[in-house]
Amino acid sequence: MIEAPECVLVLRFSSVGDVILTAPAIEALHTAWPDTRIIYAVKEPLRHLVANNPHVHQVVSLGSGESLLSFSRRLRALGYGALLDLHGKIRSRLLRLLLPRTPRVIWHKRELSETLAVKLGFRTYKSRMPLADRYHLAVERLVGRGLKKGELRYYLGPEDQKIADQRLEAAGVDLRRPILGLCPGANWETKRWPAARFGELANCAIAQGHQVVITGGRSEVGLGAQISSVAPRVVDLSGQLDLKGLGGFISRCSAFVANDSGPMHMARALRVPTLAFFGSTDPGMFDFRGHAFMFAGVPCSPCSFFGRSRCPKGHFRCMLDLDAQQAWRSLAPLLALGRSAAVSA
Ligand code: SF4
Repeated sequence: MIEAPECVLVLRFSSVGDVILTAPAIEALHTAWPDTRIIYAVKEPLRHLVANNPHVHQVVSLGSGESLLSFSRRLRALGYGALLDLHGKIRSRLLRLLLPRTPRVIWHKRELSETLAVKLGFRTYKSRMPLADRYHLAVERLVGRGLKKGELRYYLGPEDQKIADQRLEAAGVDLRRPILGLCPGANWETKRWPAARFGELANCAIAQGHQVVITGGRSEVGLGAQISSVAPRVVDLSGQLDLKGLGGFISRCSAFVANDSGPMHMARALRVPTLAFFGSTDPGMFDFRGHAFMFAGVPCSPCSFFGRSRCPKGHFRCMLDLDAQQAWRSLAPLLALGRSAAVSA
């Protein structure tokens, strides 16, 4: 056990989902060391994900194009007394070589014994514990004792809802009526439930009186267009919301439907009842209490840790076996219960 330092530096540079998933661990750290300043280092484009977290005292962002040497100089100047590396990849490993040798704990996403057989194609992947619990264990190792777990929370900025509301109202969405949010994108192709099925699901919700709004990044506008071609009454905001607007928008939703992606974690952290589709990745990596997920459980699934650019078997049954009617049966109870389902879980 080490004595609580005046200041602790936490490293987690990306991605959206992973940064959001560190929130419970940061809360546990703050509770364990209430007088310690927590400094969070993250990539500049993701700064907003932690900027309003009340358990984080300072955010230091790594600018695009900034060298690790320059960044390490800025971090050294902070005079922190302990380091918690929740990134655990090559970038943070190189950075650590340039930083003072303070007490430190390095987080590992997976053990080699978990991954080798999957990489060699001998077996499918099964996570040993939720990722948020792994972050929590790293905090316990740093503090040197067992700790109460924190909650998965995402803290909006003061402008976020206003930004989203302006977009929604400009698109003709009535903020007094229920909104179902759809997010058909994901970084990897094999993590994407087909856009046409999102469209079929949207039609089920619209028939029951819900407004359906699509969100997604600029590179995902094509998915929004595919959904709109199946469900012409959806409102498509693909490519129109930045991180601030995305959080504000999700917080307005009665329920949210997404693939295994950053917005899916944001929705759960905002306590919006969420339905998620899993195929090539393992839903056991996350806690779905108060939410729902669909997983076909075909024998080859999950075949990867974070998704693939194409199905190595060619049939893509892990996603194609999930149809829109099944999805509607999973979604309807979440819509009926509304926000109370996710908040009380
Ligand atoms: S169908 Fe099987 S092999 Fe293909 S992407 Fe899905 S889990 Fe992987």
